[in-house]
Amino acid sequence: MDFSEFAKILHPIIGAGSNVDDFACELFENIVEYPGQDESPIDKKSMKSYKAYYLGDRKITAFSKEIRKYVEPTSFERYIADMPEEAQMSIYQVLAEHVSGMTDQNIAEKTAELFKSIIYEASTKKRTSKKDKENKVPEANSLVVGEKDYYLLDECNSSCPLCGDKLVKTIGENIKNRYRHVYIMPPSIASYEREEIEAAVGIKVGDNLLAISNQLLLCEDCADENEVFSKDVYNRLANIKVELMKRKNTVDTIDEIAVEEGINLILKSFTEMKDAPIEIKKDDLEVFRVDRKIPDNIFLRETVTGMVLRYYRHIEDLFKRYERLGLLRFNKIKNEISQCFESLDEQDLNQQEIFDAMVQWLQKQSKCKNLPACEIIIAFFVQNCEVFYEIAE
Ligand SMILES: [Zn+2]
Repeated sequence: MDFSEFAKILHPIIGAGSNVDDFACELFENIVEYPGQDESPIDKKSMKSYKAYYLGDRKITAFSKEIRKYVEPTSFERYIADMPEEAQMSIYQVLAEHVSGMTDQNIAEKTAELFKSIIYEASTKKRTSKKDKENKVPEANSLVVGEKDYYLLDECNSSCPLCGDKLVKTIGENIKNRYRHVYIMPPSIASYEREEIEAAVGIKVGDNLLAISNQLLLCEDCADENEVFSKDVYNRLANIKVELMKRKNTVDTIDEIAVEEGINLILKSFTEMKDAPIEIKKDDLEVFRVDRKIPDNIFLRETVTGMVLRYYRHIEDLFKRYERLGLLRFNKIKNEISQCFESLDEQDLNQQEIFDAMVQWLQKQSKCKNLPACEIIIAFFVQNCEVFYEIAE
């Protein structure tokens, strides 16, 4: 582990609310005891340097040589031991896998030892020469993408959910990350403050603040902008997380449901349709009460009603014909459609979101490229009562 990784692990836990440069400086201040009268080597460094150390843009190699002889792990131990117990437990949970012999009884001591060894190790390294630098592939804050990140990357489609920038970049044969882990609610927050903010915003990001449900990946710039924790930041990030999780859940749950043989490529996309479909007369509207199933969304209701009036009879005929030919089993399709609807209905989605998700699902499972045809089929099943519940008058 190098300094940048160490600082990035600790920042959300004990440094939330402070800038990363201040935080990096604070870490060094607490492990270095400089007895001399002169300005301490810590104060001589600019805040820009501390930021670069934190981000990993600059190694602490040279700096570690300057401070090595003043490193006093017991002061850092006190610094950690003075933290609230919750914060110490959070440190234990994230560091235990990196520090051999760490238990919940020696958190401060082992964290201090780790920091000392990071400084010592850096001080024995050779500085990167100019030539090495030139030969080096440029790395943008480059940790190789770790396994635990896959879920989070998948959740946001590898794009920053705030600005849309790509979060991973291929350099040579490696995928390098260009993102930072951000805790939505800082794990070190006092529980009364946490409850207050959760109540004000109306979103709770799960119980375990170290869990993935409390994490987001953001690009460097957006991470900088949202670095100092506040209620507004929480509000913004928590809402994004809710949306991302909703989208991922939707896709995950219905991905499993097949649709019979791709409904024969959506009944061959109506391509064999020679005659104009038998339109239903307005008089028959009474029979086709889409309004009872979609009471609140006028736009969706009108769209679905239009498709039903125009195509319902035709699709019905096609289903019958395909079934007679042994190409599909209508009951099976009906079941799959309702299964898909029910999975979506259990989630917190509105009717438009359900309709859209079903169209996408149908398109994906049937491999049919014709989007309007898929919409018409879902509209058919709204009318046929597999999608949406009829609300009695
Ligand atoms: Zn961004």
